[in-house]
Formats: sequence, structure tokens, C-alpha cells
Amino acid sequence: MALDERLENPGDTRVVADHLDEKSYNLGERAFTLPEGVDYDLVLTNAGEGILATGIISAHVKGSCDRCLGDAEFDVKGEVDEYFLFKEPDEVLEVGDGEDEVDYSLVSSDRTVDLTEALESALLMDTPFIVLCQEDCKGLCPVCGQNLNEADCGHAAQIEAEREQERLDKSPFSVLKNLELDD
Ligand SMILES: [Zn+2]
Ligand SMILES: [Zn+2]
Repeated sequence: MALDERLENPGDTRVVADHLDEKSYNLGERAFTLPEGVDYDLVLTNAGEGILATGIISAHVKGSCDRCLGDAEFDVKGEVDEYFLFKEPDEVLEVGDGEDEVDYSLVSSDRTVDLTEALESALLMDTPFIVLCQEDCKGLCPVCGQNLNEADCGHAAQIEAEREQERLDKSPFSVLKNLELDD
């Protein structure tokens, strides 16, 4: 995105609301698609040393359920907070304990900023760690792989009954149930 005279002086701000035609992204091993791209609503501020870009992104995301592997969809609303310096700083910027460098990008020599990376990182940050097709997705049967949302193969009940039996067998009172009381 080109910086124009509206951002010439420190303190100048400019609102940029637009659409990024990004089609997909990956987070680790997981792949997501963006049927409607990414919408963003940012405020660019000339902060003296550089341009500060803050605001929000929103996107509708399609992926697969981490429990049953079926289709899953969700909305992402993420915060953008990116600093584009006009030039490489003379000293390394440090925060806190001095181990983390302040994250920044550079304004290109043709006075443009590339917002793509900032928008993508906001998208990644707000993608849930666990994506589900529905909140109470029952997942796959560990025995036969049946999608338990679609049908019940009966294995879960069987396992549960076996566990219950084991618990009873271990119980010190289990001998009692074999007692026959005579009058
Ligand atoms: Zn699911
Ligand atoms: Zn099963």
C-alpha cells in the first residue's frame, strides 16, 4: 500500500478499510481456506520513526474438525498491531529483559508498506487451537473409526460397560454380591 501526503507528518492518520484476496493459509499441519478472503479495517498513524498500523481483520474460515475430521467453519476477528519503521534503527530495539527484539517491518524505499504479513499473522493468532464442526462434536470411535455424530456403532457403550465391570471386580465389596443369604 502506498503512503501518500496524508501520512507525511508525525501525527497524521489515515483509515484504510479494504479486502485482501487471500484464498488459503496453513497453521502447522492444518490447512484452512478463505472463501471470502480477509476484510481489514486499519488506522495508519505516522508515529515519527515510522508508520503504526492498528485495527482489526475479519474472515470466514473453512477447515476440518479436529475430532471427527469433518468440515468445520468459523469466523476470525483478529487484532493487527504492526510497526513499519522508515529506516533500519541505529541500535537494536529491545524490550523487557532485553532478549526479545521489538517486532517491526520497514517502509519500502518507494514509500509503500506491505500489510499482507501483518494481516496474515493476525489471522494465525486468532485461529483456534482446536477447531470443531460443532461444540459437542462426538468425534470418531477409537475402535472402528465410525463418525459418532452420524451413527453410534455401540463401541463406546461396550467400553463403558467393560470399565464398569472392571471397577466392580476390583471393589472390595464385589464378593458381597455373590453372597446368598439364607433365611
Ligand atoms: Zn467434528
Ligand atoms: Zn466403533
